[in-house]
Amino acid sequence: MRIILFGAPGSGKGTQAVVLSEHYKAKKISLGDILREEVKKNSLLGTQVKSYMEKGLLVPDELVSRVIEQNINNGSFILDGYPRNVSQAIALDQIMKNKEVDYDAFIYLDVDEKTIIDRLSKRLVCKGCGANYHLVNMPPKKDGVCDSCQGELIQRKDDTPEVIKKRLEVFLKESRSILDFYQKHGKLIKVNASGDKDQVLAQIKKTLK
Ligand code: AMP
Repeated sequence: MRIILFGAPGSGKGTQAVVLSEHYKAKKISLGDILREEVKKNSLLGTQVKSYMEKGLLVPDELVSRVIEQNINNGSFILDGYPRNVSQAIALDQIMKNKEVDYDAFIYLDVDEKTIIDRLSKRLVCKGCGANYHLVNMPPKKDGVCDSCQGELIQRKDDTPEVIKKRLEVFLKESRSILDFYQKHGKLIKVNASGDKDQVLAQIKKTLK
């Protein structure tokens, strides 16, 4: 199974990428996680992308498409966070064509803005494994500690009100044209993602049957 996940920040892409990759035994490719890891390592790529990420802006296409090219192979995958605009969608088509692979679905996780802001402002992520929690809807068993790896839970640097606003602006600017692109390709599946993790997963599985 090869799935592309799309949605606003806070739509649950990261959470669904984890459960879908377990369910379909597929490689999880979460671009935001990969970039954060590069920033943490202070690699050349990390230093190139850091300031964009801190401001809630998209990293230049040529930097991210290289990362995607290195991560996609002919096995199953769940792609989270790429593409985010039409030029990335065209680049992804080309990457897959070169590797002679195709994808099964482009899934749009649709959530209203109020839910997004609530999710992001109360989101906690694990410093160790990147797992996501929500202070109220999906709290960890023990305060401040990750259920899966016991790592420390922190707030993401870009989950501040100001950067959330910018990230949403960027999403809204690009979303219409990218949804049109995948609709035209006949691969767009829209899922109501305002429910909890299991409800959203159940809907995705049902549409993919
Ligand atoms: P995310 O974890 O998916 O919310 O991504 C965090 C940040 O990483 C974004 O705000 C961007 O700065 C950067 N990023 C992630 N995916 C992309 C992409 N497809 N294109 C450009 N920048 C991206």
